[in-house]
Amino acid sequence: MKINNLNEMDNYDDIYISSHLDDVGFSCPTSILNAPKNRRILVVTIFSEGKSADCPKFLARQQEEHNASIQGGYDYIFAQFNDIRKSKVISHNGLIWSELTETQLIESVRAWLVELFDIAKPKTVFVPIGVGRHIDHRITHITCNEVLINSNIEVWYYEDRPYALVPQSTEVFLRELGYQVDVRFEVFLDNLFTSGFLGRSKPKVLEQRKQDYNDFVKRIANQETTKSIKSSRFIYSDNLEQVWKIISCYKSQLKHFIGGKETFFRDCRIIAIDQGRDEVYCERQWQL
Ligand SMILES: [Zn+2]
Repeated sequence: MKINNLNEMDNYDDIYISSHLDDVGFSCPTSILNAPKNRRILVVTIFSEGKSADCPKFLARQQEEHNASIQGGYDYIFAQFNDIRKSKVISHNGLIWSELTETQLIESVRAWLVELFDIAKPKTVFVPIGVGRHIDHRITHITCNEVLINSNIEVWYYEDRPYALVPQSTEVFLRELGYQVDVRFEVFLDNLFTSGFLGRSKPKVLEQRKQDYNDFVKRIANQETTKSIKSSRFIYSDNLEQVWKIISCYKSQLKHFIGGKETFFRDCRIIAIDQGRDEVYCERQWQL
């Protein structure tokens, strides 16, 4: 069911924070499906709107989120911030983004989240780690951290797909954030353009990105780590058909970001093997 605005908001046990109209659907389907039936679940999309020219496209994407909510059995709300990926103020180089400069936007997102958690009183909140360094994901991650850090709410960080569909991508990003985590950088670089969606880039862009990532990895590998991980957990699915029913709702995003059913579960299997798991499919969450 759609919650139109914060005035209609009720209490929820679990709140999943999505940067875009697909992130939680792609990243957390099993986490949602495995939740006990009596838990009330809300999915929040922060950057849910397009600029006026993109309006029809975003209406279609909002409908996709609605369809996924029925498959996943959850309620949803749109925070109604503009998806800023095409903003001229944000320069980016492949997927390696410049520093955050959107201070006013960050302040507005933070204020909205404060109100949301105040009304909904969640027990647990699920937040994107920011794997892939997409600027909207980083804004979501940073604002949630700031709001939740001194609360009694349990926080789990989920791995952002499709970015996290490359082996070692989460470890690389956690290292970048300064966490003490073992990383196999060569595995990351070897798989970066064969697993996940980056390999589907145009050849010229691909060459540039390879160079960017080589430079990036050299920098991260030499960076000091000061923080330790509190815990992590794996979530397994015994119903891949139901997982796919949620993921395939996001039809407009599927081809570029996920590929297809076979590609997706192949990528998930590669990740599971890299993480030393026997399972065909798993999701991983962290406490930082
Ligand atoms: Zn996203």
